[in-house]
Amino acid sequence: MELILLGPPGAGKGTQSKLLETRYGVAQISTGDMLRAEVKAGSPIGLEAKSVMDAGGLVSDDILVRMIGDRIHRPDCAKGFILDGFPRTVPQAEALDKMLHSTAVDLDAVIELKVDEAVLVERISGRFTCGTCGTGYHDKFKLPKKLGVCDACGGTEFIRRPDDKAETVHARLEAYNAQTAPILPYYKAQGRLYAVDGMAEMDEVEAQIEAVLRKIGVPPAGV
Ligand code: ADP
Ligand code: ADP
Ligand code: ZN
Repeated sequence: MELILLGPPGAGKGTQSKLLETRYGVAQISTGDMLRAEVKAGSPIGLEAKSVMDAGGLVSDDILVRMIGDRIHRPDCAKGFILDGFPRTVPQAEALDKMLHSTAVDLDAVIELKVDEAVLVERISGRFTCGTCGTGYHDKFKLPKKLGVCDACGGTEFIRRPDDKAETVHARLEAYNAQTAPILPYYKAQGRLYAVDGMAEMDEVEAQIEAVLRKIGVPPAGV
């Protein structure tokens, strides 16, 4: 299964792609996570990306296309992948098409998570993740069952992203509207675009995505 989850910051791409990764046994590929790892490692890519990410802008297409070209050929992608956060510009979408074409792999679907802007701001400002395993949480919508302890791994350290503060969120939403939203007509023209109501509860959104996958003939998850 080769899938793209598309949507503005805070739409639920990370949440849903992690659920799908578990259910379908495919690799979740988050370019945001990959870039944050580069920043943390202090690599040349990280050094270049940091200031752009802190300001809520988009890192260059060149860097992202190289990163993804490498990533989708790793062994954990043998059964497929879910792209979370890529492509984010039309040139990235075109580059991805070329890569997939040359390996005779076809995209199954591009799923757009639709969420109103006011809700996005609330979601982003309450977001935090487990520092050990990366499981996502929210101050209001998804607290750990036991306060201060990760449900998935028992970790007790949690992280808030520096770019999740109010000033930066606005720039990120603008970047989405100006540079990422133009991808929607690109995939619509290919007949691959499916919209899902991302405002619903998390398991309802998951059910809608699975309904799309069933409709286009992706075999149901084996668990
Ligand atoms: P969100 O959860 O808000 O959708 P991500 O974790 O996907 O954010 O990305 C965080 C930041 O990393 C973005 O604001 C951007 O600076 C950078 N980034 C991630 N993916 C891409 C991409 N495909 N192209 C350019 N920049 C990217
Ligand atoms: P994205 O990867 O698109 O930026 P996330 O999956 O990180 O978005 O979700 C943003 C925040 O909103 C997280 O704190 C997450 O727990 C929460 N969230 C995700 N989906 C929903 C939903 N359907 N309803 C309420 N909160 C949600
Ligand atoms: Zn954890």
